Amino acid sequence: MSTHGKLAEYRRKRDFARTAEPAGGAGRRAKRLAFVIQKHAASHLHFDLRLELDGVMKSWAVPKGPSLDPSVKRLAMQVEDHPIEYNRFEGTIPQGEYGGGAVMIWDRGTYEYGGDAAAGPEDALRRAYAKGDFKFVLAGERLRGSWVLVRIRRGDPRRPQWLLIKHRDDYAEAGSDVVAENMTSVVTGRTMEQIAGGRKAGAAARGGAASKRKAPGATKRRVAAKAAKAAKAAGRGKAGGRAKRTRTAASERPAPTKPAARAKAAAKRRGRG
Ligand code: MN
Repeated sequence: MSTHGKLAEYRRKRDFARTAEPAGGAGRRAKRLAFVIQKHAASHLHFDLRLELDGVMKSWAVPKGPSLDPSVKRLAMQVEDHPIEYNRFEGTIPQGEYGGGAVMIWDRGTYEYGGDAAAGPEDALRRAYAKGDFKFVLAGERLRGSWVLVRIRRGDPRRPQWLLIKHRDDYAEAGSDVVAENMTSVVTGRTMEQIAGGRKAGAAARGGAASKRKAPGATKRRVAAKAAKAAKAAGRGKAGGRAKRTRTAASERPAPTKPAARAKAAAKRRGRG
């Protein structure tokens, strides 16, 4: 599948006139494969682990984030492929948009295949990914060493669940809480509150919301008002969660393709297993 095809779901969920997230497609192939972990204060705080493979970032939402303790298995829910340009995104997704909330670049760097590669390393990664036993070695600023993502049989088959586990090596650390020990952006040094409040990120600052300075109280009120408005717009008169409903409504937006094309795409996805 082309990079464009892989990013169809990513693009369908987002209105690029409203969010500063990249549409993607200009990703060039670097010598080394990239990885990024973004801390994301959406309706539920989570960490997005993204590993480059075949021109896109394979992505998992890890609710509790990574652990350096090899005895700890962290649930990692696979989400849609993201563009490689997403690795540079730090800022605020507007409330009411898909994944609305602050996004922090928590760690970044490169990675490589961590198993025994008989063929080329990317071939081995492809095979490992298909098999659901994805061993990799991170060279990040906060995370290093050997890890594995293991696919488990649970939940929606189109949204596979995996476990993220640290292998025993020099970078493993029993009982450590690397997520709690590192509360700032690895790029800009900002906290989630500073990103959400629009504090300038210096060289990494983007246009839009992230560059506007606002009092935290005012921002909170503005955000709450926007969320309430969005929930009202998305609501169908049923009782239930506000932020969650907004997000569900956005993710259930029908694909802008013809039914036949959708069925064909779905068949193709099933075929890939
Ligand atoms: Mn996310």
